[in-house]
Amino acid sequence: MDALLGRSVEELEEILTGYPKYAAKQLYDFLWDGKDFDEMTSLKKELREFLKQNYVANPVSVLKTFKGKSGAEKFLFRTGDDLIEGVFIPHDYGDTLCLSTQIGCRMGCTFCASGLDGLKANLSVGQLLGQVVAVNRYEGGTAKSRKITNLVLMGSGEPFDNYDNVLCFLDKVSKEGLKISERNISLSTSGLANRVREFALSGHKVTLSISLHAPFDSLRTQIMPINKAFCIKELVDSAKYYFEKTGRRVIFEYTLIKGVNDSEECAKELARLTRGFSCHVNLIRLNEVKERALKAPSDDDAKRFLGMLERLNVSATIRRSLGGDIEGACGQLRRRYLDENA
Ligand code: SAH
Ligand code: SF4
Repeated sequence: MDALLGRSVEELEEILTGYPKYAAKQLYDFLWDGKDFDEMTSLKKELREFLKQNYVANPVSVLKTFKGKSGAEKFLFRTGDDLIEGVFIPHDYGDTLCLSTQIGCRMGCTFCASGLDGLKANLSVGQLLGQVVAVNRYEGGTAKSRKITNLVLMGSGEPFDNYDNVLCFLDKVSKEGLKISERNISLSTSGLANRVREFALSGHKVTLSISLHAPFDSLRTQIMPINKAFCIKELVDSAKYYFEKTGRRVIFEYTLIKGVNDSEECAKELARLTRGFSCHVNLIRLNEVKERALKAPSDDDAKRFLGMLERLNVSATIRRSLGGDIEGACGQLRRRYLDENA
């Protein structure tokens, strides 16, 4: 059934032909609050019945949650007959939701659980918004008094492989309903350099993260097959272009994998690549995935790599790997649930 969340008031008015105009606006507000039709008691019963028979309000519902030691809470959502995952991360500066953009992923990075079975589906605008609205409600928020203030598009999937829906989502989530400012939204891409350039001109001003993970083409191609389509130089040039066009500092994500990308040569080349424009390197220790043989470096080894970068004047930090204890890395929770319930 078609979902109503994400439709404009005008589109809802068309669906509600024959009812007073204010009903469409009421419905619109209820949808952004995360209410189901039965809870929209100020709408006529007969109208609610009509809606229930023909539509769903939010195409995403919370199936299970898992609280981790760090305070992060992992969400397993049901959508249609599939599952998606997200993570809610409370911070003192505001609460963040990490959401998924696809079911699975076709990029095939060797360290990631999301790409193990390839791409199953692109998430629709309603399913993207649905994750935000469902968690906001679950955490006690409404559209007017939001619980979620920040978004990161870093769950399962490659956002730029679902480009049109993701851009429409950014428009709606920042201008309608919860009105989450694009300043508080980050998007992470595995390196579709052509889309980075297109996005730079799109008028959106989110923080762009680029998953670099290796500074040499031969190494990056081994762990990220997308590197065959867009090499490191093209990618870094597109990042510079993004900075020039938007004025926003670009973040390079660098997942440290033991014995693979944590050498001094890697640090030196990473420093060379990131020199001369406003960017920052985020180091993350690998979240080990049971289906993959790759290992995480120790805390000390990660700090040693950070030290090398700092001596080379690279702006860098180690990001806590959030939710490792709750299968935090993208794609792991959905897989475990599917395995256990197979
Ligand atoms: N597809 C996009 C966004 C989702 S992944 C991308 O690849 O950028 C979000 C981040 O988590 C990316 O930087 C990704 O490389 C990283 N990641 C994926 N699997 C990981 C793992 N097992 N351990 C640590 N980081 C991982
Ligand atoms: Fe896809 Fe990102 Fe995982 Fe690579 S790291 S397989 S692009 S979700």
